Amino acid sequence: MPEECIFCRIAAGEVPSDIVYQDEDFVAFRDIFPQAPTHVLIIPKTHITSAARLMEGQQELAGRLIMIARKLAEKEGIAERGYRLVINCGSQGGQQVPHLHLHLIGGRQLSGGLG
Ligand code: AMP
Repeated sequence: MPEECIFCRIAAGEVPSDIVYQDEDFVAFRDIFPQAPTHVLIIPKTHITSAARLMEGQQELAGRLIMIARKLAEKEGIAERGYRLVINCGSQGGQQVPHLHLHLIGGRQLSGGLG
């Protein structure tokens, strides 16, 4: 794991975070600067720099990322009213942390725009 990767360090338990879910391969924790009442980041424990670096053999991992988001949305009580799933990819995509993460955002009315 890259020593300097903040999300690897969260996954390893070296940096404190508000973890809401974890299993052998994934961790989900609350965003430190939440944009909505529910703002959770779901990450694979393995270091993948971005969605652009996903390999063919990682299809199942990519699918599980979304399935975890669906289950967490239910757990957070936002599944019925709706929510947003976002993966920022690369600099023009607005990605700040270079470790693949899926944002689960909800609990308020979100605008229709994509920025
Ligand atoms: P992105 O712009 O898609 O790369 O999103 C990165 C997200 O990570 C931002 O929403 C940050 O607020 C969040 N973030 C950065 N550092 C931490 C941290 N230590 N714990 C929780 N969330 C973080």
